[in-house]
Amino acid sequence: SAMRQSRIRRTKTVCTYCGVGCSFEVWTKDRHILKIEPEHGPVNGISTCIKGKFGWDFVNSKDRLTHPLIREGESFREATWDEAFTYIADNLRRIRKTHGADAIGVISSSKCSNEESFLMQKLARAIIGTNNVDNCSRYCQAPATAGLFRTVGYGGDSGSVTDIAQADLVIIIGSNTTESHPVIATRIKRAHKLHGQKLIVADLRSHEMARRADLFIRPRPGTDLIWLSAITRYILDHDLAADSFLEQWVNNLDEFRESLEPFSLEFAEEKTGIPIQTLTKIAQMVAQSPRVAICWAMGVTQHSMGSDTSTAISNLLLVTGNYMRAGTGAYPLRGHNNVQGASDMGSMPNMLPGYQPVEDIEVRERFESAWGTTLPTTKGLDNHEMIHAILDGRLRAMYLCGEEMSLVDADANLVQKAFSQLDFMIVQDVFFSHTCQFANIVLPASPSLEKDGTFTNTERRIQRFYQVFEPLGESRPDWRIVQGIANELGAMWTYQHPSEIMAEAASLTPLLSGVSFERLEGYQSQQWPVAEDGSDQSILYENGFAFTDSKARLHPVSWNEPVDQPNDEYDLHLNNGNLLEHFHEGNLTYLVPGIREKTPDVFVEVSPELASKRGITNGTRVELTSRYGQVSVRALVTDRVQGNQLFMPMNSSDSPVNMLIGANTDPVTHTPAYKESSVRMRVLHEE
Ligand code: SF4
Repeated sequence: SAMRQSRIRRTKTVCTYCGVGCSFEVWTKDRHILKIEPEHGPVNGISTCIKGKFGWDFVNSKDRLTHPLIREGESFREATWDEAFTYIADNLRRIRKTHGADAIGVISSSKCSNEESFLMQKLARAIIGTNNVDNCSRYCQAPATAGLFRTVGYGGDSGSVTDIAQADLVIIIGSNTTESHPVIATRIKRAHKLHGQKLIVADLRSHEMARRADLFIRPRPGTDLIWLSAITRYILDHDLAADSFLEQWVNNLDEFRESLEPFSLEFAEEKTGIPIQTLTKIAQMVAQSPRVAICWAMGVTQHSMGSDTSTAISNLLLVTGNYMRAGTGAYPLRGHNNVQGASDMGSMPNMLPGYQPVEDIEVRERFESAWGTTLPTTKGLDNHEMIHAILDGRLRAMYLCGEEMSLVDADANLVQKAFSQLDFMIVQDVFFSHTCQFANIVLPASPSLEKDGTFTNTERRIQRFYQVFEPLGESRPDWRIVQGIANELGAMWTYQHPSEIMAEAASLTPLLSGVSFERLEGYQSQQWPVAEDGSDQSILYENGFAFTDSKARLHPVSWNEPVDQPNDEYDLHLNNGNLLEHFHEGNLTYLVPGIREKTPDVFVEVSPELASKRGITNGTRVELTSRYGQVSVRALVTDRVQGNQLFMPMNSSDSPVNMLIGANTDPVTHTPAYKESSVRMRVLHEE
């Protein structure tokens, strides 16, 4: 009836899961979510995946945090917000007085809005007085950003998601796109099927995209840099490079060419296990395709050579002239919905918003005069360094927003040991996460459906989401909580709405100068860089690269053996990744009953050959031991993996794979080498 109809509300929102950034209408009645309807999403059109469509029930979960909680001995008691803010400010002041501002660390959330990330770094820098602020892109995509900064100048996808359809050849490296970025995978599948787009997949594991590919290669773990460099060398050696593009747009060709010396096809075959014939075929396919786009994800970045391998991808694109046009370019696929935005907004220890270095005096002065304060002058600790700083007594307090850091950081045992040594810890989240058990105070945050804001997706697209519900219980939007803490510490912030925060960010950040909530009304969106008149760029570098001379730079890289190699004691290689149904550590998706029933628990994939050698069948319980920890899980025998390679989904809070991962990192970004891990496996005999 009309009466009933009128009580149904439709509100535009943006998916809170992966970095594709699908947008849709949420149909609600009171606090019930009736359905999700994609309509005119600039990225997704009328598609969504299972998470975007059904992954929202957590909002009304009875497990939501609804009051601030203050620790008393081994348990927590409910507190008022006034009490919480006073308690926090007293403790932060005490620690700052005794140990200095740099004894405090702040972690922003890549699930929070751009405005919230902006405020977190402003709190750290302008109010607390430290550059110790970071976000979780350090755990996933920072190496991709580093590789692109070095070569082309911006740390973002060079084109748009919809443009990928125009590529003649798509190469996917270390990305289980179907399960991690479903709507992008759908677009590639369609172009492949309908427009004759060619697809090459490089991965350890045979997933759906691998099975669809025209060519699927399985280089040995940690050797992607080699085959990429070898085909780049082959292309240069055989006069297949884009000479006029190189001449007009690219610096450093001579030095780069010399650096490729070690990467002969013979060397590449020996190290990667890919036959010379196949490598030559890939080189020819790349050279002959007018438009090549390369997508990559954590199978590339979570390695000790993550930044250098990302650099090798960009080098190959430059040598073949595959930038500046639709259907070409670099597509690092971001994980969390706002992992791009958290970095864009300056939640990084070395960069103010818009990738403006904290060590640049002119940049700092601009922020200092806007904020009426002096800012710390040297770069702070990243999240990896913070853990070590706690262990050696330099870091005493942490404010952690929406980050399940005790489970998702590598070497989780060490991280948990560090957290238990903190003098003071604030954890802000929607649920009582695993990390909350280390906190002195837990603050209840509101998820995206309970607030306004913007997210920035993997292709630099800024989109608004609108409040659907009132915050549950006493929970509050993160930006309000950050403002409450700042004001208790003496700031006099008066933000009434996130649009005011974005206006401030835009006024201080050339990259975002024309961004405003008005221009982002409804389904409108803007892809940075956004000029003052509001014009944006769906393709980066159309008029040159982001360096003063407008030229890109080929950046030489070299190869080293992966750090954690299988040996006699730890004889198996352990890989990990996402499952379609779940998201990252699973703290939201496991609370959605329909999803939990489908994939209730974690498992380890074992190849048929290894299974028969060890007497393992489906469901056999096995114990995995690395140099760092131990977990026990059930085996799933599948030819998705081969030989002595194992695979575990990362989506589990019961037996997290990160208990097994060591402290090795990419030296450029300190991103953990999650994908380089050796373990041994023992069959557990059950009663
Ligand atoms: Fe959400 Fe990503 Fe699925 Fe789109 S593809 S609905 S953004 S999880």
